[in-house]
Amino acid sequence: MSMNIAIDGPAGAGKSTIAKKLAKELGFIYVDTGAMYRAMAYYFLTNGIASSDETKIAEACQDVDVTIAYENNEQQVILNGKNVNGFIRTEEVGNMAFSATSVYPVVRTKLVELQRKLAESTDVIMDGRDIGTCVLPNAQVKIYLTASSKTRAQRRYDELTAKGVSCDFDEIEKDIIDRDYRDMHRETSPLKQAEDAVLVDSSEMNIDQVVEAIRSIYEEKKGC
Ligand code: C5P
Repeated sequence: MSMNIAIDGPAGAGKSTIAKKLAKELGFIYVDTGAMYRAMAYYFLTNGIASSDETKIAEACQDVDVTIAYENNEQQVILNGKNVNGFIRTEEVGNMAFSATSVYPVVRTKLVELQRKLAESTDVIMDGRDIGTCVLPNAQVKIYLTASSKTRAQRRYDELTAKGVSCDFDEIEKDIIDRDYRDMHRETSPLKQAEDAVLVDSSEMNIDQVVEAIRSIYEEKKGC
């Protein structure tokens, strides 16, 4: 039986950085489910499908094939045979993923099926919003990784200013609070901590400390 580690939490909590690092240490495959929602969003955007048009979105789902592959240990999202990794990290795609792809059950059902298949036969660390609650309810280790909105805003602010992008701290924090609310209150698979998930608050922790904390939770569970 494969070993599954589920990491859920709000945007900007550091899930992907932590999951990638830990996957490397443990020799697991890292699965970034947000990238799959982004790939679907990219398809809708490039095909002129509006986020409000549920009928067209449902129809389009039948034409979309999303898979993942690995190149130098990095997850690549393949959309209808084309690697779209280079196109899915934009603000526009993120907003579409947020308002369209993640709210419709028809999209979620399709992606959840793929995610479950991936975890069936492979040791994975999978991150997202609904992994412990819906995608992998039997994952041996479940983590709910969070950090205060101030800390997450500060991390984002530092990241942007290091890139030379001018930005406003309060606006970033407001955006984070807004996203949290929408992620936690959507009808289908809202973000919430699974009952059997361990809460890790990284507000006062650096990356290595979080990796270490989750690793020790994993070692403890494995030993059971
Ligand atoms: O994590 P990331 O920002 O890449 O996620 C993109 C979008 O997909 C977000 O709007 C998030 O709410 C959504 N998502 C989701 N379920 C997941 C992973 C991401 O609804 N398992």
